[in-house]
Amino acid sequence: MDRKTILVIEDNELNMKLVRGLLKIGNYRMLEAVDAETGIRMAREHLPDLILMDIQLPGIDGLTASRLIRKDPDIKDIPIVALTSYAMHGDEEKAIKAGCTGYITKPMDTRNFLSVISRILKSAKETDPLG
Ligand code: MN
Repeated sequence: MDRKTILVIEDNELNMKLVRGLLKIGNYRMLEAVDAETGIRMAREHLPDLILMDIQLPGIDGLTASRLIRKDPDIKDIPIVALTSYAMHGDEEKAIKAGCTGYITKPMDTRNFLSVISRILKSAKETDPLG
């Protein structure tokens, strides 16, 4: 089976490190961006299988970035998983409204993290005739 590529857009170094460890366990290939502008550019360039999007980012925030991705014909169908903060009530709903496919709440639950990713990758595959 081919390795899936996950683009992670996250400005917090500790969270990025944690995600890196988890994606390694899941045998995913990881691309990293610390702001939305870079992330969107990398998404267009690499067409990842999934984007993990932090909501609170410097400059363009994760919700705005998700809306921009959904309007971009080249990358609009890439699933986006929002990284929301437990402390920020209502972010999950906002993320879905902004076009995110799902969300993972921080602080991240290690087991839940990989199951959410694989579930969303699987359902994306089922709806995409090209696989
Ligand atoms: Mn952040």
